[in-house]
Amino acid sequence: AGTLYVCATPIGNLEDMTFRGIRTLKEADLIAAEDTRNSIKLLNHFEIRTPMTSYHEHNKIEKGKKIVDWLLEGKQVALISDAGTPGISDPGEELVRMCREAGITVTGVPGPAACITGLSISGLPSRRFVFEGFLPAEKKERQRVLDQITEETRTMVFYEAPHRLKKTLEELQKVLGQRRISICRELTKKHESVYSMTLEEAIAYYEKEEPRGECVIVAEGRSRQELEQQERQKWEPLSLEDHME
Ligand code: SAM
Repeated sequence: AGTLYVCATPIGNLEDMTFRGIRTLKEADLIAAEDTRNSIKLLNHFEIRTPMTSYHEHNKIEKGKKIVDWLLEGKQVALISDAGTPGISDPGEELVRMCREAGITVTGVPGPAACITGLSISGLPSRRFVFEGFLPAEKKERQRVLDQITEETRTMVFYEAPHRLKKTLEELQKVLGQRRISICRELTKKHESVYSMTLEEAIAYYEKEEPRGECVIVAEGRSRQELEQQERQKWEPLSLEDHME
């Protein structure tokens, strides 16, 4: 049987494509791409002539089965997404699972991922972190996640699209309060920028400035200090004045 290569591609800067990534895409019999019209630019740039087929959220079951069959016939398949690492808030997870169930070898060709790039330049603690990706769109599920992260002590990493950034920052502020965040925009691109501030400052900033470009939001986890303060408030006996009222 062939091998499925889960191949990372640049998140903006084409120079971030790895040598192994290029070779893998050139040598594969087939490239399964999230959006073939988008990926053709990458393939043309690196003079990769391998045929492509689409593999995305809406055809992942039938196309997944086909790809598994091709792999079982001995074809080498490379999986790419529009940007970054497949399977990370992108199609891929399902195909990898189907391949593993069929006993097919799956290997990673690592490269850029916006979450790691953002975290590494955020200036926030990176020893322990949690990747939240996009907050769920569905209201109840979204609120459940927001309620959960209030307690989170690790640094949190979120993905967001520019048109939803303001709303998300406001929702985060409600559950995280005065935490520090870093908004990492247009990573690896010409206009890359990282804004580090409190959530309140970020909201005020975007009242004047229209959010532009893709971004990663990195938020500080709950500090021990904050935790202790809350515990103290819970247990502190009522003061004399309180009794006199
Ligand atoms: N698989 C990709 C990865 O490994 O990073 C993520 C794909 S996800 C559909 C797209 C989201 O990733 C964007 O909404 C944004 O939050 C983040 N993202 C992707 N490229 C970025 C960039 N150059 N700068 C900042 N954020 C980026």
